[in-house]
Parts: sequence; C-alpha cells; structure tokens
Amino acid sequence: MRDLSLSEKLLDWYDLHARDLPWRVSPRQRLAGVTPDPYRVWLSEIMLQQTTVAAVTPYFHDFTRRWPTVSHLANAKDSDVMAAWAGLGYYARARNLLKCARVVYSEHGGKFPASHEQLLSLPGIGPYTSAAISAIAFDLPSPVMDGNIERVTSRLFAVEAPLPKSKPILFAHVADLTPTERPGDFAQAMMDLGATICTPRSPACGICPFQEHCEGRRQGIADSLPRKLPKKPKPTRNGSLYIARRNRDGAWLLQRRPPSGLLGNMLGWPSSEWSETTPAMRPPFAGDWHRVEGEVRHTFTHFHLRLEIFITRTDTPDLLDDLEWYPPPRFSPSHLPTVMRKAFDLIRGDEMWN
Ligand code: SF4
Repeated sequence: MRDLSLSEKLLDWYDLHARDLPWRVSPRQRLAGVTPDPYRVWLSEIMLQQTTVAAVTPYFHDFTRRWPTVSHLANAKDSDVMAAWAGLGYYARARNLLKCARVVYSEHGGKFPASHEQLLSLPGIGPYTSAAISAIAFDLPSPVMDGNIERVTSRLFAVEAPLPKSKPILFAHVADLTPTERPGDFAQAMMDLGATICTPRSPACGICPFQEHCEGRRQGIADSLPRKLPKKPKPTRNGSLYIARRNRDGAWLLQRRPPSGLLGNMLGWPSSEWSETTPAMRPPFAGDWHRVEGEVRHTFTHFHLRLEIFITRTDTPDLLDDLEWYPPPRFSPSHLPTVMRKAFDLIRGDEMWN
C-alpha cells in the first residue's frame, strides 16, 4: 500500500469529519463542483478573528441575509453595519470591513482579487487573513497559520520554543506541509483538527490522523505545547457612564463615539475618561444624577475596566452636538457594544426605572 503523506492523511480525515460551518463549502460539495464564495470566506475570516465559531454564527447569518454580496455591503449605511456588528467586539474590524467592501466594490468591480499580494493591500486584511482567503476561496497554496494551526504544528514537530518567538519555525513547517492539491481544504482541516481533536487541554491523540508521526505525542509533551512567554498583567482602568431618559417620551441619551480608537463609531452612553486613577465626574449635563448599586466590569485586549453607572430622568437640557435622544422605537440595546449593554442590564434592576 502507498505510504500517505501527512497532508494526504489529514485530507482523508477531513473528508469524513469536516465541521459543518455556514460559510464552508464541504468536501462533498466541492466534489459536486460547488466553489467557495470569496465574500463569505472573507466575511467569516474577519468575524472569526479573536472570536469563536459559536459567537460568530448568528452574526454571519444576519450579515449575509441583509447584505448577500460585497456590493450590497459596500452600499450599506455605516450606522446599520456598526449596529449589526454590536456585541461581536473589536470594532475596528467592522470599520475596516466597510472600507474593504467599498474598495472591492469601487476598485475591483465587486470581486475579491485572487492574489495574496492584492488581498494584502485591502483594508483590514493582514498576512493571516490574506493567506486564509487565498487558500480557502481561491485554492492557492498559501500557508495558513491561526491559533489552532499553531497548536497542532507545535505538537506535531515538538517545537518547544515559546510563542510568539516560535512563529517563523511553525510557519516554515506549515509551508512544508501545505499541498498544491486542495490547499484550502488542507488549511480548514488543520483548523478543524485543532478545534476538535488536538484541543488545548487534552488532545485526543488516539483518534488523530497524525498520531503515528507526532513528535510531541512520542515525547509525551504534547499537552504542554505550545509554550508561551508569560503575559504582562493587564492594568485596570476606571470610569463612569451616564444614562439619562427623557420624561416626555422615554427616549435614551446616547453618544456616537469618535470614529477612531476604542469602540470607534459605536453608539454608547455618555462617559467620563477611562483612566488608571479615579477620573473626574463628567456628566453630559447638570442634573440630579443617582448612582446605581453595583458596577460594570469588562475586559478589553489591553486592560480591565470598572465602571460606575449614574442615571437620571430629565426634561430637555442643552446638549452637546455628539449627543442624541433615541426614543424607544429607535433604541435597541442590541445596537450597543457589550460593555454598554452590560450597563443597560445593570440599570434595569434599579428602582428609579421601575
Ligand atoms: Fe495533537 Fe495528539 Fe494529533 Fe499530535 S497526535 S497532533 S498531539 S492530537
């Protein structure tokens, strides 16, 4: 019998065990001649950065129902896209998603370019995403590296150097493994293997297609890999949010955040600065502000955040330009980013609103 290469073994496993994902063309569909839609591949790859399949799935369905092609998305209103993205986090991705859709629409005739270099020149597409789209959407043999693939590769070759220093070594291994036939399926198979078998805590080596070749398994060190340099502890910042309702119609006072920076362009409650010392109170207008019991805690990539929440009911104070009243039919907490939604959840228990 012919000795199968590692990539052939993995592809055989994938043909039987590929996960059913809403953006994926399955091995069976590929055989039947279905080809991937680069728009869906791109959208899923952007959404999946820093997030799980379970979290992304409802957003992916919602986006592709409302904007079925990149041209539809390019012509969407910014505020609609930001509201649809709310809760998925890392909002710079949503701003770049729109920028990228508009470049593809206006400069590439609504078609994603089928080249690693051209994809890399588009807004919000870095080396990983470009490689993933090249491989999955266009079947180009670009080595793809994500967290799952890093873990599988470091175990398969027993790479003990810690991440992120080991990235070039891992990348070279993946480049060697990536086949010219079905490179897109190979990349997805590596992701699936990492997500379902070669999992972070207890790899199921007994059912792994790499088990006979895996150096990490042979040495008994698989579950300690990949090694990682210790992370710096995150600082904690403090701040206050101010939630006001208008007496006559129950409208909520919201603020569109500046276009760049944290939560850029998202709607939120008026806020003080967020700083490591206790920031000064900065309500949006003078009024009878009442502190809500409890606090909101949230963690961003680089810091933890603790927020005190103040509420008031009011009539019509003078407001700054970036503040706007949202009456109940226009206001939905689902349009708010998660940290702002946590504040909404906290005040719902306060007697002042009941
Ligand atoms: Fe991971 Fe075990 Fe497979 Fe090695 S044999 S790749 S450690 S699941």
